[in-house]
Amino acid sequence: MRAAVQWTSGGPFEIGDVDLTPAGPGEVGVRLRAAGVCASDLSLTTVFGQPTPVVLGHEGVGVVDELGEGVADLEIGQHVLVLWVPSCGECAPCLRGDEHLCARRTSTADARAGREHTATHRLSIDGEPVHQGMNTATFAERTVLRRRAVLPVPQDVPFPVAAMLGCAVPTGVGAALRSASVSPGDTLAVIGAGAVGLNAILGAVVAGAARLIAVDPTERRRRTALSLGATEAMTPEEFADRAKDLDVVIDAVGQPPTVLAAWKAVRRGGTVTVVGAGRPGDTVPLSAYELFHDDKKLTGSFHGGISMRRDIHMLVDLWRAGRLPIERLISGTADLKEINEVVAAQRDGSVVRTVLTMD
Ligand SMILES: [Zn+2]
Ligand SMILES: [Zn+2]
Repeated sequence: MRAAVQWTSGGPFEIGDVDLTPAGPGEVGVRLRAAGVCASDLSLTTVFGQPTPVVLGHEGVGVVDELGEGVADLEIGQHVLVLWVPSCGECAPCLRGDEHLCARRTSTADARAGREHTATHRLSIDGEPVHQGMNTATFAERTVLRRRAVLPVPQDVPFPVAAMLGCAVPTGVGAALRSASVSPGDTLAVIGAGAVGLNAILGAVVAGAARLIAVDPTERRRRTALSLGATEAMTPEEFADRAKDLDVVIDAVGQPPTVLAAWKAVRRGGTVTVVGAGRPGDTVPLSAYELFHDDKKLTGSFHGGISMRRDIHMLVDLWRAGRLPIERLISGTADLKEINEVVAAQRDGSVVRTVLTMD
């Protein structure tokens, strides 16, 4: 099958013929139809320790085309979302409702932290193993996943929209609704107006934020944020000068300067939620006095604090009602073979998302 292989850390993608093992017991084969390129795909090898060669991609949707032994609750032809944060439903975090923190989730990048990781090599070229990035590998025509890493998605959701439900939408919308618990009337800022930040803005609009500031150095992105419901847009410099006493700041960048800018701009008792993926070695110096005296809350947000099994219906219903206009984040589609051009356009900010298709 055709797949986009990254041979070297941070290197270009090369379309090649990759072998995929059949679905084993408890596994599902999926013919992929659409995949989004998420920022963390591009830093997985360079920052998060993912070994190469690798087929990346963790935002994806497709059609079930193979059922491994023992998988009885899915049907061939069913539309399914690929889950890069699968949950087992049985461990302590899952049972308390934190399915995004499932203790049984592992990925190849976990090797960096010395944690156990699934070493199954479902992918190979000429018998040589190729890694399956985030155990999903959606930049390909097909993938094989554990049953718990796929989730049925209603057939009325177009594939490009469904692909974004795999990461950018739950991560951004969840950061606002779940992690930061934005309330009606809140004054709020979102730092970074890429796909996750724009989805955080959509989530804040759904939650009823009053003043909603989008912060981004790129004018095009600030304009997009305004068109999606932000009430103001600022450059990072303007934000540092002018923003203060906000109820909530969502940092969709996750670098020490943005975390500190968020911390400064939030009011006493307010909440900073960091949803941008920080680098493992970065640290953020905070005043211990302020931590105590200003009573501010600093929270992380992994995958938006979303439980996909529970929240997929909420996200799809909001999309159906026109309240999560996901299509407006998608500038178009492109064949998988154009992946390098798509990556370049997203990196320079000229598009939010171009969704890859594998027809
Ligand atoms: Zn679990
Ligand atoms: Zn992602």
